Amino acid sequence: MEICIVGAGYVGLTTAAALAVFGHEVECVDMDQAKINGLIQGKVPIYEPGLEDLITEYYSKNRLHFSSNVKESIKDHPIILIAVGTPSQNDGSCNLNFINQVIEIIASTINKYKIIITKSTVPPGTNELIHQTFIEMGIKDNLFDIVSNPEFLREGRALWDIFHPNKLVFGTKIDRPLEVLKKIYQKESAPFVFTSLTGAEMIKYASNVFLATKISFANEMARICDVFQVDYTDLQKGLGMDPRIGTDFLNAGLGFGGSCLPKDLSSLKHSALSHKLETKLLDAVMEINDTQIELYLKKLSTVLLNLTDKQITVWGVTFKPGTDDLRSSPALVLIQQLIQKGCRVHAYDPMVQLKLIDVISHLNQYESLNNSDALIIATEWEQFLNCNWSEVKSRMKGSIVLDARNCLDGETVRRQGLVYMGVGIR
Ligand code: NAD
Repeated sequence: MEICIVGAGYVGLTTAAALAVFGHEVECVDMDQAKINGLIQGKVPIYEPGLEDLITEYYSKNRLHFSSNVKESIKDHPIILIAVGTPSQNDGSCNLNFINQVIEIIASTINKYKIIITKSTVPPGTNELIHQTFIEMGIKDNLFDIVSNPEFLREGRALWDIFHPNKLVFGTKIDRPLEVLKKIYQKESAPFVFTSLTGAEMIKYASNVFLATKISFANEMARICDVFQVDYTDLQKGLGMDPRIGTDFLNAGLGFGGSCLPKDLSSLKHSALSHKLETKLLDAVMEINDTQIELYLKKLSTVLLNLTDKQITVWGVTFKPGTDDLRSSPALVLIQQLIQKGCRVHAYDPMVQLKLIDVISHLNQYESLNNSDALIIATEWEQFLNCNWSEVKSRMKGSIVLDARNCLDGETVRRQGLVYMGVGIR
């Protein structure tokens, strides 16, 4: 099948590569000319394990194409899959400008039947509104079908997720596009969930909000463990063994970040509020998350007393390991708050060199520690877990290791004469 994917970001590129593997003819378009030029030269603009190899292979097989001529590509293809960004606005609501740009192009060029698939995460009611807008513009309903097909991939594991999804969700108004959808995804073995347009949008939001809720729950439990001097990791182990609870998303730490959980949480809250519905649980989840960094800085102050002029090394700046994505990274907020408190910040991340005026970024993990008063683990990259703690000790001036991701073995760190600490950690 011939498919146009609009948006060459994390979702668009991963989906484009997967659909090419499934045997479809895919053109991925983006308004960012530099991005498309890079892709044509074999440069993938994001880090996602395995993605570059797959794109190179299917580009050379002529099954995957790239173009910045968004209008032409949309006009020429019978299936349009929208994967543009839906960031937060200042008031927390979802910014639909990119979606609207694409919809305008489709509406102004449509002259034969098209299936328009929204993969971007959009607030409940958006796809219904798109349908209504088309009708109000005089586009006959036999010319198009709108499908809400949200994406659930995780950055850093995007290819695995796209080839092994636990479900595929399709929201439609009528059954007409279902046969085509089944053909697009016929190589997937996951169960299909068919629902309404808004039902599919809600499944996506509820999934992300549930995950965020689990993390804030974990963080609140860690706070309580801290005052009772209970090791939260013991609690976590015990909790996770209950299959009704499960082990995932129970890590306590700096809180959730990234391009999805914070924005989807505030977008859903905003949508509910627009219908005069209060969201007490969502508010609490957000409030706990927003105060995690402050909590860790307080911990640090209990041992360093005054943070002004202290040299602090932060390991990990991406919002989670396995990605180069800095969007809404808690580590970045932590760094900014350290700077505001007068700290001299050194940073190291295996994937990203920070280009911030007030931060000294290092290429070498251990050099970033020279003369530091404290080390904070802000992202749990594998290489931090198994690092050489005796070298860490010898490079640092001070001896504080603040594990803000509960990812280290405290005993191993302490054995080198370092002071290991965290929230809910003994
Ligand atoms: P991204 O920012 O990485 O990529 C979006 C791309 O769309 C950019 O390259 C941008 O230039 C392009 N674009 C924007 N407007 C355009 C237009 N009018 N015409 C052509 N190109 C345009 O975004 P992403 O992380 O891939 O996320 C895309 C959507 O998928 C969002 O709604 C997000 O919430 C959702 N989502 C993301 C993830 C994730 O892990 N990143 C997972 C599931 C769902």
